[in-house]
Amino acid sequence: MKTLLLSAAEIGAAAEILRRGGIVGMPTETVYGLGASAWDEAAVARIFEAKGRPQDNPLIVHIAGLSALDELAAEVPDTARELARRFWPGPFTMVFPKKPSVPDRVTAGMDTVAVRFTAHPLAQELIRRAGVPIAAPSANVSGYPSPTCAAHVLRDLGGRIDAVIDGGPCACGVESTVVSVVGPPRLLRPGSVTLEQLRTVVPDIAVDKALRGEVGPDEKVSAPGMKYRHYAPKAPVIAVGGDRDGSALYIRSRMGGRDLCLCYEECAGIFAGRRALVYGSLADRASLARGIFAALRDADRQEPETIYVQCPDEAGVGLAVSNRIRKAAGFREIVADRSGRDTKEKG
Ligand code: AMP
Ligand code: MG
Repeated sequence: MKTLLLSAAEIGAAAEILRRGGIVGMPTETVYGLGASAWDEAAVARIFEAKGRPQDNPLIVHIAGLSALDELAAEVPDTARELARRFWPGPFTMVFPKKPSVPDRVTAGMDTVAVRFTAHPLAQELIRRAGVPIAAPSANVSGYPSPTCAAHVLRDLGGRIDAVIDGGPCACGVESTVVSVVGPPRLLRPGSVTLEQLRTVVPDIAVDKALRGEVGPDEKVSAPGMKYRHYAPKAPVIAVGGDRDGSALYIRSRMGGRDLCLCYEECAGIFAGRRALVYGSLADRASLARGIFAALRDADRQEPETIYVQCPDEAGVGLAVSNRIRKAAGFREIVADRSGRDTKEKG
């Protein structure tokens, strides 16, 4: 199969492909998604096949207006309406009890459905022109870091999907924040809508323990995607948090010639002459979110023995970034002090 690379101007062709049961890589404000009509079970099955995605990992259904929510959710609690008013359209997903008409393929057999009203103009136009809600997980090979530009999608899935729309790099860079509103609101996955922002609407919002990797291999998790090794390049990842410069000094003292480090802009000097890639600035956490996945992919292409990653604390979007890094590292994190000599282990 030849995968078409479409420009923004060719969005009509992409909508037509979706209407005919095809699967299309599409930009969103978070990461690139691999979309199919949510009502078309055969097309949704092709998403799982193209990605090599485990069958029990449900998809998010993307909408371009609030009215579509009522076709998908059996019940929309008042808190959810408030969260929607505050964070939609945007990088924010809510999990609702599902209507029976939502195909089991989409929800992986669960009786709930995840819905996101995306803010990306191209994604919105695609949904409107296709005339259906679009079920889409991230457009990467299952387990690999999510794609944040069209080239990542082509590299992973070229030849296995019908088309990809090039909408440039993604504004957020990490997947959407996921909150369950089935029962008391609970954060299932951190994203660019931060926990601090959520608390302005739901002060006592719960945080799922899977977020910190505190679930055994056989335990049931609320967001099935959380249990898989994820976001991970081929090389092993070691996450190093704690003090900004101390973590850099620690990594530098441990790095061998075949290792590589993903560092903060502020620490680039510490790695002068070493194999290091800057993935963002610690003073601008949104830049870390935008850069992390592309940096993990770039690092992997250099075939290092180990990838060390400077890992931010959990303030703001740091929670989402550190969650992705720690997950790639099997949920272990080394915490360095200022000298970079003393460390603790977390996880
Ligand atoms: P992806 O877009 O590839 O990150 O995949 C979507 C993720 O959303 C899944 O891995 C789940 O963690 C989450 N998700 C989707 N549907 C549900 C649901 N019904 N209940 C809980 N989490 C969900
Ligand atoms: Mg994914």
